[in-house]
Amino acid sequence: LERAKNLPSLRLTPRLLCDIELLATGAFSPLDRFIGESDYTRVLEEMRLTNGLLFPLPVALSVKENDISTGDEIALRSPKNEIVAIMKVEEKFERDISREAALICGTTDPRHPVVAEMLSWGRFCLSGPLRVLNTPRHYNFTEFYRTPAEVREWLKSAGYSRAVAFQTRGLIYQTEEETIKKMVKETGGALVLQGVADPTRPGEIDIFTRLRTYKLLAEKYYDRKRTILNFLPLATRLARVREILWYAIIQRNYGCDHLLLADAACINGLDTESERFFAPVEIEEFFTEHSNEIGVKVLLYKRPPRGAMRPEVAAIIANAYPPRHQQGFCLWFTGLPCAGKSTIAEIVTLMLQEYGRKVTFLDGDVVRTHLSKGLGFTKEDRDTNVLRIGFVASEIVRHNGVVVCAAVSPYRAARNQVRNMVGKDRFVEIFVDTPLDVCEKRDTKGLYARARMGKIRGLTGIDDPYEVPVAPEIILKTTDCSPEENARKVILYLIEKKFLPE
Ligand code: ADP
Repeated sequence: LERAKNLPSLRLTPRLLCDIELLATGAFSPLDRFIGESDYTRVLEEMRLTNGLLFPLPVALSVKENDISTGDEIALRSPKNEIVAIMKVEEKFERDISREAALICGTTDPRHPVVAEMLSWGRFCLSGPLRVLNTPRHYNFTEFYRTPAEVREWLKSAGYSRAVAFQTRGLIYQTEEETIKKMVKETGGALVLQGVADPTRPGEIDIFTRLRTYKLLAEKYYDRKRTILNFLPLATRLARVREILWYAIIQRNYGCDHLLLADAACINGLDTESERFFAPVEIEEFFTEHSNEIGVKVLLYKRPPRGAMRPEVAAIIANAYPPRHQQGFCLWFTGLPCAGKSTIAEIVTLMLQEYGRKVTFLDGDVVRTHLSKGLGFTKEDRDTNVLRIGFVASEIVRHNGVVVCAAVSPYRAARNQVRNMVGKDRFVEIFVDTPLDVCEKRDTKGLYARARMGKIRGLTGIDDPYEVPVAPEIILKTTDCSPEENARKVILYLIEKKFLPE
């Protein structure tokens, strides 16, 4: 480990971190390293390694950097910079990403999420023996991240020579639970419940919520003597029939001789009915060909209509994903100094409390006395200020709180960055559109007067730019509307968007 610290190092992506963990534990056996060139070529063309064994997907280590060469020793680090392994680079070769995507995913269409990701991978692949120093640590659900050897050991001690792997990254409904139990019973084996614990894709239920539901089901609704729960850090490829074959090989390594999958697992990454690449029938045909060779029989079942979830599972989901009127959101007031942002924002804050919401008010002037103390009014400092407020806002929203921000925030790009940090559907940009001459007449803080006298420089609207919002959710005019009327408009908008109950 001491030596590793001084080696040139390579930071693994979350996907590669999953891959290296499964290489290290033997879940990808017979592959014990990131794939080399001759294996890579044969895997793409024939789904086999050069030694003739079936292996359908190229588990490769991509790099962009070109300063690593054969013969080098490198340290592989986690995204958090912890040293995971030392690799002696024996091969370096180029990978043809489009050809690979076409062969394994059946498309080069970037709407396929893995293909989209592939397009950003480095062109070079490195291969060589790995010395794994620390497998990635799992600080939660620790006991469920088991190695294949541990699962096989459990099966042996529980007296099972057969085992069905049920592998899922979805939610398990009651109807499905019954299907699983029935099929496991028919085989007479044990159940290895494999919850896929891979990086979440946008729009999916977060991993911890999903894993909590598996844990609950395994403990409460499955026969404990017959069931073992494992969390599988498998970074899926959405690679159609190759993917299923890959799963089968992995499950063989965990000691299973059956793989049970919903037919939905066969949907390609484009995920639409009309673009389905292959039907379950094709899988069955494919597997009659390969089943004996790998020693795993693939059982596909038609996903039953969803129906009900176990009440405890429903409660876990409801807790993580409350109805919209209990979710967080951010009101972002922007406009010239003295436009009326703080005045209206404060009234909105009070009105929101009537709905029982927990509200934080981040006023630009106040923020500059602590969070952004010391920052000035250059473009860079203004952006830093806005992004700091944005960061706090995004954390509040993530915890389902309400945050009201009032800051001049003159630059469009910084406001858009905050929108992305908070999440587009939780961000309400409110442009307080007061003409400059009106703002100047109000001049509550005497800023305009001082700017006109040349005592201060860089006042937004006078000698510093204000970029008008292009598509704010709400525009408020303050010349013909009182602060209270405008505050009501904001509340009505929130009711209309279901952020507040009627
Ligand atoms: P900002 O936060 O945009 O710098 P403030 O809310 O601090 O602006 O100041 C706006 C000033 O304008 C307040 O003194 C407020 O009372 C006054 N004002 C007058 N009419 C309105 C209106 N229709 N809406 C908001 N503020 C108004």
